Amino acid sequence: MSDTSNLENAAAGTKVVGAGRRKEWTGAVVNPPVWRASTHLYENTAALAEGPRKNEDGRFFYGRRGAPTQWALSEALTQLEPGAAGTVLYPSGVAAIAGVLLTVLRPGDVLMISDNAYDPSRTMGKGLLHDFGIEPRFFDPLDLSAYEAAFCERTRAVLLEAPGSLSMEVCALPELARIASAQGAVSIFDNTWASPLGFQALEKGIDITLMALTKHVGGHSDLMMGSASAGPELYAKLRTRAQQLGTVVSPDDASLALRGLRTLHLRLKQETETALAIAQWLSHRPEVAQVFCPMLPGAPGHELWKRDFTGGCGLFSFVFRGGSAAARNRFVDALTLFGIGFSWGGYESLALPIDPAVYRSCMAWPPAPALAADRYGVRLSIGLEDPADLIADIEQALSTWSAE
Ligand SMILES: *Cc1c(COP(=O)(O)O)cnc(C)c1O
Repeated sequence: MSDTSNLENAAAGTKVVGAGRRKEWTGAVVNPPVWRASTHLYENTAALAEGPRKNEDGRFFYGRRGAPTQWALSEALTQLEPGAAGTVLYPSGVAAIAGVLLTVLRPGDVLMISDNAYDPSRTMGKGLLHDFGIEPRFFDPLDLSAYEAAFCERTRAVLLEAPGSLSMEVCALPELARIASAQGAVSIFDNTWASPLGFQALEKGIDITLMALTKHVGGHSDLMMGSASAGPELYAKLRTRAQQLGTVVSPDDASLALRGLRTLHLRLKQETETALAIAQWLSHRPEVAQVFCPMLPGAPGHELWKRDFTGGCGLFSFVFRGGSAAARNRFVDALTLFGIGFSWGGYESLALPIDPAVYRSCMAWPPAPALAADRYGVRLSIGLEDPADLIADIEQALSTWSAE
């Protein structure tokens, strides 16, 4: 008989398959059913009176605290994250970032934000948080001494992300987390790229790790959700704040996310393998100045990725050797197997023209003087198509590109 209570020492695939499948939630079937519920019913008025007092995970109360479908997903994510006491679910990745920051920060605080963070995270610092009296300060996560020097009395938290959004830099996460902790600040890490299968954030010293489940956990480009996991003290605070903010996710979406989760390890493995083959191939093309793929030996960030990560994924970028925005866009338009769109981490490949310079305060783009003329980039999200077909498609699209 299956028992998912002790997966701690199991390998990733075994955990992904078994996590969150408690017998009391699944009954006699494999997947937890979709529990659609606002009202939870009580046996009698005495049990009703108990409800609000016992605010614990896995207790029926009212729809806003979820029901077994959501509980199964959040328990599954907790079981995948060594060191986590619990996981809060949010209706999107951005909602997870907001929920975490609104838990940790108070008016007057400084939030340090990695300059290569996802743009909506940057915008949240400059907009929502600024409006609430919190000061965002951007820093270069590759410059440890400048980072350490940037802390002040009011620095309450640091928001990290790796690889960097669009530009894919890998920073020294354990060192960055250690410095934040020594300065009395909470380290928050956006682990959407690697997931806990590729980077065990809490074990590496991060205080709160979050993900856009919209990407790899969903995996099929048909749902939006986010999560945040932490140790006991911070998890309790995140959970309380989420309840105060009225944060809920639908059981239908939680069920879809659970379905996606069961193949996460296989999809990540295949994506990583295909992405690496494509990255390698691109790095030898005369049209390409630089490939930014942490899994690629010799690429920026590869050594730190090898040191700290246990896996990769299919998302990486490259820049053309010179050229123009128009030539780059012609290339993207000529692709036939890649969709053009935001998001990533689905089973289907996507391509996106990127201009990271627009989203930087203190980090240079292009990232090195030798690449000064090479600013026109493309981000590829590699899906599960055949690698040779994807390479053939990129090759035919490259024939439309010219430096003039
Ligand atoms: C997409 C993304 C998010 C936000 O997720 P949504 O579900 O789209 O709100 C957050 N962080 C990273 C790194 C992302 O790529």
